[in-house]
Amino acid sequence: MSLTSTTPSVLLNTGVQMPLLGLGTYKLCPEEVYRAVDAALVAGYRSFDSAAVYRNEAELGRALKELLPKHGLTREDVFITSKLGPKDQGERAMQGALHSLSQLDLGYIDLYLIHWPGTQGMDVTDQRNPGNRAQSWATLEELHAQGKLKAIGVSNYTPAHMKELIQSCRTHPAVLQVEFHPQLCQTELRSVCEEYGVCFQAYSSLGKGELTAHHVVMEIAKNCGRTPAQVLLRWAVQQGVPVLPKSSNPDRVKDNARIFDFTLSDSDVDRLSALDCGHKYCWDASQVV
Ligand code: NAP
Repeated sequence: MSLTSTTPSVLLNTGVQMPLLGLGTYKLCPEEVYRAVDAALVAGYRSFDSAAVYRNEAELGRALKELLPKHGLTREDVFITSKLGPKDQGERAMQGALHSLSQLDLGYIDLYLIHWPGTQGMDVTDQRNPGNRAQSWATLEELHAQGKLKAIGVSNYTPAHMKELIQSCRTHPAVLQVEFHPQLCQTELRSVCEEYGVCFQAYSSLGKGELTAHHVVMEIAKNCGRTPAQVLLRWAVQQGVPVLPKSSNPDRVKDNARIFDFTLSDSDVDRLSALDCGHKYCWDASQVV
């Protein structure tokens, strides 16, 4: 990928750079995708995070095909992530991944993740879950070897799921994408990723928007003349953790990108990290066997 934006990036274990900032697209309905992607490209975003379950892969692919030339960019300038839906875990994995590739229709996917360690319609304690995710991983390895998925990884895996994968995989996961913000610092998962050379990536950095109203976040934002969202995103990227803020509002898309021109003091970082209470705004995979 040739990064034509000034957005900093992290080096994945595949040797490829992944931007530290990406646009989240969960809950962006088809009509909102084009406007948000347009604003994001102007603001310097070069990474876009979709998933089969978001039902917007086709709109994202179409928007990029139209907008990249408009902004003087090419397919190689952007980094596209998508995810295998829990309904396709196991024997349907090949069908699911090929469907994502055809929906996006961008030739290849830069990063493809197993969205969830479980299987839709199966109890979290179902003993078939480990076999199903192993089968999904083998499928992703095959498509990676064919060059259709440039990097592969997982999402919502716990330390136990990560260790199971590392012990059995042929291709090492490049990324683990999980919920991460000051109320959920994920210390154990971060050290597992560090030990195995897996890039730890954040989702729901704004606590689905709710954390922007936290009094500590607001106070730090006021003191440094920034928005609460910028403070939350800066807290992550300053620790080297890539973020994927979602907004359907072009002004917020732009605002959320202005996180590389200021620094939080060590004491502000510590004050935010002290909010850690294990709170999850999103789903919790800890019970999935
Ligand atoms: P988020 O980015 O933490 O928050 C999004 C919410 O915050 C939206 O309601 C948005 O509203 C609001 N918002 C955005 N910018 C704001 C600002 N500057 N000030 C105040 N509010 C603001 O939540 P998320 O969508 O859950 O997570 C981000 C992305 O991570 C997702 O879109 C998805 O791509 C990915 N994700 C992955 C998983 C997974 O299982 N792998 C799970 C969750 C999320 P408006 O749209 O109205 O601006």
